[in-house]
Amino acid sequence: MSNPFPDPELGEPFLLTPGPLTTAYDVKQAMLRDWGSWDDDFRAMTRALRQRLLTLLGPGAERYDCVPIQGSGSYCVEAMLGSFVPKDGKVLVLANGAYGLRAAATLGYLGRGVHLLDKGDYLPPRGAEVAAILAADPAISHVLAIHCETSSGILNPVDEIAAATRAAGRKLLIDSMSAFGAVPLDPVALNCTAFVSSANKCIEGVPGFGFVIARKDEIRAAKGNSHSLALDIHAQWETMEKTGQWRFTPPTHTVAAFLKALDMQEAEGGSPGRLARYTENRNTVVAGLRDLGFETLLDDRWLSPIIVTFFCPADPAFSFQGFYDAMKRRGFIIYPGKLTVVDSFRIGCIGRMDAAIMRRVVTAAAEALDEMGVASAAPPAAALEERKKLAA
Ligand SMILES: *Cc1c(COP(=O)(O)O)cnc(C)c1O
Repeated sequence: MSNPFPDPELGEPFLLTPGPLTTAYDVKQAMLRDWGSWDDDFRAMTRALRQRLLTLLGPGAERYDCVPIQGSGSYCVEAMLGSFVPKDGKVLVLANGAYGLRAAATLGYLGRGVHLLDKGDYLPPRGAEVAAILAADPAISHVLAIHCETSSGILNPVDEIAAATRAAGRKLLIDSMSAFGAVPLDPVALNCTAFVSSANKCIEGVPGFGFVIARKDEIRAAKGNSHSLALDIHAQWETMEKTGQWRFTPPTHTVAAFLKALDMQEAEGGSPGRLARYTENRNTVVAGLRDLGFETLLDDRWLSPIIVTFFCPADPAFSFQGFYDAMKRRGFIIYPGKLTVVDSFRIGCIGRMDAAIMRRVVTAAAEALDEMGVASAAPPAAALEERKKLAA
């Protein structure tokens, strides 16, 4: 039946998810033609894609290069780890959620050494902890930080992690998948060897590739280090430099959509403009849902403008599935939570949505609670106990 809150352009539900996310009509429309992978037109598109991502970096960017890799974001994380961590290297993985743990698992597959600092569901890894671990374990060659850990939505303190890493003379790798393009990330200031992001997060493209932005000297030095043919960053870079082509079938339509998405990001004022919109989205949905009695997992200090975790209400009339279905009928796809201790759900703030849409999300949530007969959206006492750990 008709959707009471349709996307004005397509009648699709809004994806309140961290990617794939709601994209602009113009981005989708950019995919309505075919490109030959070795043709000059497509080679120019690949060149533009690489150059334009580097211009988002600011001063010092000439020391870095951009290497796109086919696949989802995890392919890029694996490419980065396999290409830059030597076979006898060891990585301190700073985990506070699923993506940190996935990176550690990836290193296990690659046979690289791992020192896992697992902070649980959402506690931030702090600079002092990193410094202590690095001082105690001289075998650690690299530190891997997750910029925004999308599992809980926490914005990790990459500045203090980078300072501790630099002070100990180790190399820094960053998974900025869900942050780059909106949350500031200055690889020069952070002295970062490489970081990764993907097409379908804050740049608001469609899925199909990710990209590694790495120091040129590190890319050159990575020759022959990768465990993988398809995920060898040096080999992909060398081919792109020589021929302008991707080594294997490129995601042509996704690249076309991404260039349109970059135009729109630039028109919005680049990363600062996008950050402002996402921040307003977050503030609107957090204030609105708190008014309804919902509580966020994280204190304001750690809330990212990317995705926010809310506790499920304690009221027995509430169920995640019931809430999900009621929100979907109103045109909004929400996201399940990923906490191990208490039930939660997540609301993404990224994608082509603004504060007016987020106000409709709040209205839809109020209606959904009514429909379910939920009297109070207050979380269970166990959730608030859990949250006290953050303050400790
Ligand atoms: C999305 C994301 C990834 C990659 O996930 P894919 O499903 O492979 O695209 C990695 N790290 C973080 C922090 C992410 O948000």
